Amino acid sequence: MQRLAILSLGSSVEPRREYLENAVTALRLDPDMTLFGYSHIYETTPVGGVAQNLFYNQCVSVLTELEPHELLHRLQKIELDNGRTRDTHWADRTLDIDILIYEGHEINDAELTIPHPEMLKRKFVLAPLADMMTPEYRIKGEPVGELLAKITSCEEVSAL
Ligand code: ADP
Ligand code: MG
Repeated sequence: MQRLAILSLGSSVEPRREYLENAVTALRLDPDMTLFGYSHIYETTPVGGVAQNLFYNQCVSVLTELEPHELLHRLQKIELDNGRTRDTHWADRTLDIDILIYEGHEINDAELTIPHPEMLKRKFVLAPLADMMTPEYRIKGEPVGELLAKITSCEEVSAL
């Protein structure tokens, strides 16, 4: 059975737009996924105090029969194909692909946490998510638009 998975894409190393486009193209070309929707691209300030550059962020959804861990490995391959290195947590990166939601699954193991724990707290995730799904879309019962309105941090996000 196909399920909806919602992904968050991020890039903070030029060419940022090209990295996001490469990710969407790779998802389109994967025979085990059907691209379902995508948000506008947002330029966002870095969070966590390590990355220096402004990010481009985007949400994308796919329909897939891949199990969540298989999907993660497929996404990690796309990151590696786009020059992703893993040295410092939160550092600037060519391409990051996180699984925000996988329909019907809550997971908490060594490799995967779904829903992604940071997502409910970050404008750079919630703004493109509200754009792609509508602000009424609920995560754990809470409308994304309301989660977004509650954020008090000074993160800046602007749609391109
Ligand atoms: P981050 O995205 O947190 O900046 P990484 O992309 O380097 O950092 O991911 C670190 C690890 O986070 C991955 O090896 C992966 O196993 C784990 N992880 C846990 N939950 C998720 C998720 N929902 N989506 C993607 N990766 C996840
Ligand atoms: Mg990641």
